[in-house]
Amino acid sequence: MSDRSEHQKMYDYVVIGGGTAGSVIASRLTENPEVTVAVIEGGPSDVDREDVLTLRRWMGLLGGELDYDYPTTAQPRGNSHIRHSRARVLGGCSSHNTLIAFKPLPSDWDEWEAAGAKGWGAVPMEAYYARLRNNIVPVDEKDRNAVARDFVDAAQTALGVPRVEGFNAKPFTEGVGFFDLAYHPEDNKRSSASVAYLHPFLDRPNLHLWLETWAFRLDVDGTRARGVHVRTKDGEETLVRARHEVLLCAGAVDSPRLLLHSGIGPRADLEKFGIPVVHDLPGVGENLLDHPESVIVWETDGPIPENSAMDSDAGLFVRRDPEQPGPDLMFHFYQVPFTDNPERLGYRRPAHGVSMTPNIPKPRSRGRLYLTSPDPSVKPALDFRYFTDEDDYDARTLVDGIRIAREIARTEPLANWLKREVCPGPGIRSDEELSEYARKVAHTVYHPAGTCRMGDGSDELAVVDPELRIRGLDGIRVADASVFPTMTAVNPMIGVLMVGEKCADLVEGAA
Ligand SMILES: Cc1cc2nc3c(=O)[nH]c(=O)nc-3n(C[C@H](O)[C@H](O)[C@H](O)COP(=O)(O)OP(=O)(O)OC[C@H]3O[C@@H](n4cnc5c(N)ncnc54)[C@H](O)[C@@H]3O)c2cc1C
Repeated sequence: MSDRSEHQKMYDYVVIGGGTAGSVIASRLTENPEVTVAVIEGGPSDVDREDVLTLRRWMGLLGGELDYDYPTTAQPRGNSHIRHSRARVLGGCSSHNTLIAFKPLPSDWDEWEAAGAKGWGAVPMEAYYARLRNNIVPVDEKDRNAVARDFVDAAQTALGVPRVEGFNAKPFTEGVGFFDLAYHPEDNKRSSASVAYLHPFLDRPNLHLWLETWAFRLDVDGTRARGVHVRTKDGEETLVRARHEVLLCAGAVDSPRLLLHSGIGPRADLEKFGIPVVHDLPGVGENLLDHPESVIVWETDGPIPENSAMDSDAGLFVRRDPEQPGPDLMFHFYQVPFTDNPERLGYRRPAHGVSMTPNIPKPRSRGRLYLTSPDPSVKPALDFRYFTDEDDYDARTLVDGIRIAREIARTEPLANWLKREVCPGPGIRSDEELSEYARKVAHTVYHPAGTCRMGDGSDELAVVDPELRIRGLDGIRVADASVFPTMTAVNPMIGVLMVGEKCADLVEGAA
């Protein structure tokens, strides 16, 4: 990025957020040398940042200088202490996450299509998976820890679920095995969105990265988005203009946040803070989704081997209800004692241990993101309304999960490693006790989504149409985890990358 004279501040496309989806879109659009693209990214570059690029160092980034670190509002039925990490660095959360790489299941895409996302069914979406540039491979043999291998064996024996080698090879409803990861096993380096989509092309003269630059208000002329007001690293405020389109890719928290501060959102909420209403759009910030999970921890009989890709390399999917099209309970297996939340209830972290984390693939509780101030620098409120669904489905799923986890822990060869159950502890047995524990120590696996959901004209809360265009405005699309109409049963990053790929096609008129 060189000259930023007035002339240079006009680009064909302005991508707001050089994160997971934004990196894909900027990369694809700049394949055409005639097209100029500016990427407005709040964080610094990830190039040569070993702390970022080394996958196994992901925990060290939590809450650090590259984390926007969003609190949640009080959660009367859950854990009010959950912090939502969101990465402030090129590549976004794909530069911080654990890179578990699941192609969304056909039933996930078909659910989107049924929710009004025409053209997003499993069949047409398959081509976008094939196109991904990331290095997606099963956890390497050398990284497969002995205790994780024994978890896989024990789960297979205890539950009779199939062992899966390569979860993305074909759709599944149940299975246990090592994950596929977007990484380079030889040196444990990330194959994040930025590594795969931007690093090889940083010398493209038509790609302009505005790093450490914060977008704080969209520039909308009547019903047409013209650009975005930004504050650069030096504190200079300037308008970056889009000749054709603005592509909003700031993620499930910051995309709705920017829309709201730009006067695009529910009228009453905007008027409450004196934000001039540019476009009354009731769905902005609604439909806040996540994958909450709980944790059960065992002390092991001595230390466990060190080798790993990122400390949670294996997992399990169960389908309790055969009527469901996909899995309805998931587990990550951690080869570390993950006691951050239980410690608040008085539990102690053992010197050596492992954890299983029952997770709700299709949670039914729905939350909401909203502003608490007209000042764009104030973080929005995130009220996930964890465990508030009418039938208590979400909490019951975690209770089932703890019981299943105990069954696996009793089974060899895993049983041989385990000295005692640390939390919730063998004394906690009834449904009520298990539910209380599971909800109070619940954490997030950082999958917020859905706050600018995609839908058709019949969905009053749809923010974007199936071409990702903001309903009622011209010249602006949203493309990131916020457009998910419903949560994928599997970890969402690959779905977000595919949203990016499809968005690039939509912009180019090829979809
Ligand atoms: C710790 C962690 C672990 C996870 N593990 C996994 C996993 O293993 N597998 C999986 O599938 N998913 C995982 N996820 C979730 C997954 O990473 C996200 O769902 C996905 O990366 C979100 O992509 P996005 O494009 O929506 O947003 P992001 O990747 O967050 O991109 C948003 C970008 O916009 C920038 N930005 C935001 N606001 C502004 C602004 N106003 N001005 C300028 N720039 C702005 C940010 O700096 C960021 O770069 C994890 C997430 C985290 C945080």
